[in-house]
Amino acid sequence: MDSILESALAQFHHGADHVQLPDRYRELLTSFKTTFQTQFPVELDDHSVHIFEGFRVIHNSARGPTKGGLRYADHVTLDEVRALAMLMTWKCAVVNIPFGGAKGGVRVDPAALTQSELQNLTRRFTSELLPIIGPDQDIPAPDMGTNPQVMAWIMDTYSAAKGYTIPAVVTGKPVAIGGSEGRFEATGRGLLYVLEEHLSATGGLPGRTLAVQGFGNVGGVAAKLMQQAGARVTFISDKDTALHHPDGIDAAAAWVHVQGGGSLKSWLEQHPEAAEPVAPEDVLTADVDVLVPAAVQSVLTAENAPAVRARLILEGANGPTTTEADAIFAERGITVIPDILANAGGVTVSYFEWVQARQYMQWTEDQVNAELRRLMIAAYRNVVARCPIGSRGECTQREAALWLAIERVVEAINLRGIFP
Ligand code: NAD
Repeated sequence: MDSILESALAQFHHGADHVQLPDRYRELLTSFKTTFQTQFPVELDDHSVHIFEGFRVIHNSARGPTKGGLRYADHVTLDEVRALAMLMTWKCAVVNIPFGGAKGGVRVDPAALTQSELQNLTRRFTSELLPIIGPDQDIPAPDMGTNPQVMAWIMDTYSAAKGYTIPAVVTGKPVAIGGSEGRFEATGRGLLYVLEEHLSATGGLPGRTLAVQGFGNVGGVAAKLMQQAGARVTFISDKDTALHHPDGIDAAAAWVHVQGGGSLKSWLEQHPEAAEPVAPEDVLTADVDVLVPAAVQSVLTAENAPAVRARLILEGANGPTTTEADAIFAERGITVIPDILANAGGVTVSYFEWVQARQYMQWTEDQVNAELRRLMIAAYRNVVARCPIGSRGECTQREAALWLAIERVVEAINLRGIFP
């Protein structure tokens, strides 16, 4: 199985071949503008000192300041961060917001730290990042293992260093300190808008069956909103538990429980009639209309792709499909709505948050959702115009999204020129 970086590079070259990209751009777009790697100490509650490793990678800034999440996970590697930074460049270009791509990560299991340890780690890492991040430079956001509280600590540490409050240095902040209404649900809501648009020509979402892998910020919200929009969510899972009910699971109720600090396991213990536990791999091969992988990367592989039964895959996670699996889905006529389109709702509302912070304005949630819907649907239509749904064997929506993104980034590079 290829790594997420190998997948990202292979996909890029494939797209670059199609748009007949000259070598000078190919080299530029497979290199990384800034790679920052640091090992830094954090004093833990028992007064021991632990050294953590952190990364921030800026892939390309031709279209504007760079944007990308910060991930806390015990498996983070530089290659992973690079791949995700590159995906952010394409994602921002697909939804046509004026940002380049970046990503960061710290190799840590956040669940193993206390709140004060997490705060110390975040503040120390932020101070290491001071030369790189900034409201006009590079703007972090939450990702796996980080949340609005972590963003608040980053904003505070950055502001303390500069001497005044700078809310636009991060997005995904709590609303009380300049976060945007609707940001927390934005990625899941963006998935909903894209899915509704996709299904609008064929009867819409109500009654469709869904399997959602991952029940966090992306999967939990998507499952809840899709259920509320009339879908039957028959499979859900988190990292320890997978659940099934043929009539549909009350994802909204499960999400309330998980948001309160519970897990799907403890939810099932309290509501044993709500669903049956199943094997985790059953979620990916479930007999449903739509599969939403919304947990981690590289879960759809050459091994399980032949057994996938959904006819539509909506990528909530970043990089959930390996290159080999992608080829199998294309061959089998399974439509994949790619991550750089499907899950771009989060970065889109991050952009709205950045705009609000720079204008010291607060939009209403309705305004945010209406603008999100407009940009997501425009992006979906732009991609489908390049590769109509059902163009079996000729092109895929992943390729089309990438062509669009590469062309937009190259246009910016061309207009700006190569300095000097
Ligand atoms: P999260 O930490 O809130 O939730 C992750 C969920 O996945 C949890 O329920 C966890 O238990 C589950 N999980 C982990 N490993 C699993 C496994 N092997 N099988 C099944 N479930 C598993 O993270 P999130 O913010 O929801 O992010 C999920 C994915 O979406 C990541 O790939 C992330 O990069 C991507 N993403 C997130 C955002 C965002 O705004 N949060 C935006 C775009 C993309």
